[in-house]
Amino acid sequence: MGRTKKVGRAGRFGARCGASSRKRLIAVEQKAKLHYECPTCLSRTVRKQSVGIWRCHRCGYTYAGGAFTPTTKLGVNSRRVKGLSSGVKSSEEKEVEEAT
Ligand SMILES: [Zn+2]
Repeated sequence: MGRTKKVGRAGRFGARCGASSRKRLIAVEQKAKLHYECPTCLSRTVRKQSVGIWRCHRCGYTYAGGAFTPTTKLGVNSRRVKGLSSGVKSSEEKEVEEAT
């Protein structure tokens, strides 16, 4: 394949699907391919295994998360409502706790 400096991963679509859709796809897929921090062993070895399934390659911990990111805003919220800890606290969550 040729060089795809601008379109990156969306280069496989060629000129199809529209520029803005392809730009959004790049952002989502890049996030999905990153290594994330494991909730149990805290090493940055969690990778997407399948849609919504995340697996740590160091300790083998497999868990359900967002489709393209290990945690979603909605997931963090629902865990808070259920009284479960989400492992890693986001800054937003801390702010909410301080306010109450
Ligand atoms: Zn781990």
